[in-house]
Amino acid sequence: MKNDGSAAHGLTRGEAKEENAMIDLAKELKDVQSVAIAGHIRPDGDAIGSSLGLYHYLKKNYPEVEAAVYLENIPRAYHMISGVDEVRHEIPREIDCDLFFCLDCADEHRLGAAGEFRKKAKKTVCIDHHISNSGFGDVDYIVPDASSTSELVVRILDEEKIPLEAAEALYMGIVHDTGVFRHSCTSPDTMEMAARLMRRGIDGSKIINATYYDKSYQQRLIHGKALLESSLLKDGRVIFSYVQRETMDFFGVDTSDLDGIVETLVGTYGVEVAIFFYETEPGVYKVSMRSKSLVDVSRVAQSFGGGGHVRAAGCTMKGTACDVLNLLLPQIEQQLEEKDRD
Ligand code: 5GP
Ligand code: MN
Repeated sequence: MKNDGSAAHGLTRGEAKEENAMIDLAKELKDVQSVAIAGHIRPDGDAIGSSLGLYHYLKKNYPEVEAAVYLENIPRAYHMISGVDEVRHEIPREIDCDLFFCLDCADEHRLGAAGEFRKKAKKTVCIDHHISNSGFGDVDYIVPDASSTSELVVRILDEEKIPLEAAEALYMGIVHDTGVFRHSCTSPDTMEMAARLMRRGIDGSKIINATYYDKSYQQRLIHGKALLESSLLKDGRVIFSYVQRETMDFFGVDTSDLDGIVETLVGTYGVEVAIFFYETEPGVYKVSMRSKSLVDVSRVAQSFGGGGHVRAAGCTMKGTACDVLNLLLPQIEQQLEEKDRD
């Protein structure tokens, strides 16, 4: 194994808190009756896959435990994953929860309404791979160089006991955060883990196509429009595009339909950084950034209250599209210049 959690300890927290080591699931579940599982707002493949993977595993191996998954609206692409229809979207008014698993969530704020579990559950276990996560659980398992939270969830499970539905969800989560085993976060361990999940009997090709590549015609159109209207900046090293609310309304798409645009943009010859943002409400933009090899976009996102990974990060910013771009560019330019000097 590449990481045993102890490697992550020094990276994630300065203060002496409980050791950020591998989680002993059986120990955490001792005397536990109710478990809540939640991931970050606007859940992506990894948040959904890690949550449902853990859920199916608990249902199969700890039937005495009452487990429930809480996530915001789940994009259509993931509806083929078993258990999506059991996900709860409303947080109960009275929370009575022994153990809360907070998955793939870099900070408490990103839990949205599910943040109530962090406040009211008897104990919170935080499992995550975001470099910007400073550790906000009672127990933290944060490994920034892991490919995905789904990979970390597999590590805490007894692989022989992973049921097919859990294997499908976890494989899907790994597929999404690695960009189908393409991003630099994909390690030999990731590939070996994916192989072991495949041996549980999953149809990997079907999962990859249905959840990652297949798009609706409307999605194709808005992707095309965003690409057509993209601009190259900084001698072709930065590429940028954005989508306004009224354009989304015109094409009848929602924000999750824009997933993948920023990945396509960054794969342009000569480009080091891709910036893509869309309007969530008038004058508010959700920003996505991707970096090929030189720029730490997590640092840029963090300076605007967001976070993420070195090569993939995001934040929410206010102003006009022009303001947002003008705020982001100097930091990116500065990092590029620093690298040029090295
Ligand atoms: P995306 O661009 O796909 O929305 O996000 C890229 C990465 O950055 C993901 O790991 C995501 O969790 C993280 N991220 C995106 N937006 C935010 C944000 O506003 N705050 C934090 N902390 N992380 C974000
Ligand atoms: Mn993730």
